[in-house]
Amino acid sequence: MTEPHPAQDRAIMLRYHEVALKGDNRGWFEERLIQNTRKLLARALSSPERPSPYFRIAKEHGRIIVYEPWSTTVNTALSRVFGLTGISPIRIVKTDKQELLKAALEEFADYVAKNGLPKSFRVETRRSDKALPEKSMQLDHFIGGAIKDAHPALEVNLDHPEFTLGVEIRFHHSFLWVKKYKGAGGLPSGTNGLVLALMSGGLDSPVAAIRSLRRGCAVGFIHFYGTPFVGEESLAKVEDLVRLVNQYQPEPLPLHVVPFGKIQEKIALVTNPKIRTIIYRRMMVRIAEQLAKKIGASALVTGESIGQVASQTLDNLTTINSVAKIPILRPLTCQDKEEIIAEAQRWGTYETSIRPAADCCTLFADRHPSTRCTPGLAEEQEERLSVSELVLEALDTIGIRPTH
Ligand code: ATP
Ligand code: MG
Repeated sequence: MTEPHPAQDRAIMLRYHEVALKGDNRGWFEERLIQNTRKLLARALSSPERPSPYFRIAKEHGRIIVYEPWSTTVNTALSRVFGLTGISPIRIVKTDKQELLKAALEEFADYVAKNGLPKSFRVETRRSDKALPEKSMQLDHFIGGAIKDAHPALEVNLDHPEFTLGVEIRFHHSFLWVKKYKGAGGLPSGTNGLVLALMSGGLDSPVAAIRSLRRGCAVGFIHFYGTPFVGEESLAKVEDLVRLVNQYQPEPLPLHVVPFGKIQEKIALVTNPKIRTIIYRRMMVRIAEQLAKKIGASALVTGESIGQVASQTLDNLTTINSVAKIPILRPLTCQDKEEIIAEAQRWGTYETSIRPAADCCTLFADRHPSTRCTPGLAEEQEERLSVSELVLEALDTIGIRPTH
């Protein structure tokens, strides 16, 4: 048998939770994860010089190996792939004890040159192939012992070492890693159907959209645009947010924009300002439900959170909910604002979300809206409107903005 020779001795190793992906669908999930990785990485690497970047990706013993040199761009792109739990640049070494030792000492020396001598260290060997007769622990001692002999002051610390050298033994070639970056977690996007996210331009809706992506959904977008009563900056902000959310999505999806200001004006003429925001919201849900049907989405997603503002009391959420037949997912229902802010910072949507821009929900509405609007009260007010005509009018005027 001829030995396969890797074209280069550097690559990237991706970890994922095998447990979460067990069962009949495992192969399909892994394939999805690989496809998503390829798409997000190719998008990040594409440039005029390299318009359709190609790189080899292989599935090996519960790991995904990407044969592409390490860079910040690569790291950023991989850290956006849902389903991955860890990312490590690796060095590929022939599976031979002496060669492994030599490479390990070089990796250690390289670390010391950049960071100084660590106080503590450990070697962490994992054997997926019994290519070497030694057990994992014996290899830990063999390599770790040599490092310790060279630096007697170094302590071995198995729980919180300052420096870890990972060794993954494979049949022909083994992998060494020093750095382990956290992956984005969750499930591979596209393994759980399509949802439609209601995007408002605030902090919450982008986080809610990303959370649904992280559970394996593909996410489409709809925005109710208060034109001509709010400025273009408010639409531009939502487009920017959708662009950011799309960075996590292997297939970026467009933003559907409903010109909503005139509809709100009609609502405002005949309804009580105290519950107007709830009436707007019910109208949004009806329109979004129709669009969801059209694009094949099986649920709506909002950034609502219980009690965050007057329109989001449990009573008001119930009243908003009652016009929908389709499920409305609210990934942030029980989340504190601080937690949502921290998550917006983690996903990189925070800075855009805090840009000042008006949202349409407060147009023509009372500054102190009712916290207790019942479905009956809302229906009574809606009798003064031709709800289904307004829904049709909105559907007729929906525009699509590309956002990738
Ligand atoms: P966000 O930070 O997401 O704007 P918020 O705290 O400002 O939320 P609301 O303005 O009450 O809360 O909106 C609650 C949810 O309703 C939003 O998260 C979003 O899903 C939906 N929503 C509100 N306004 C719009 C809009 N103009 N277009 C689409 N969806 C909207
Ligand atoms: Mg808002």
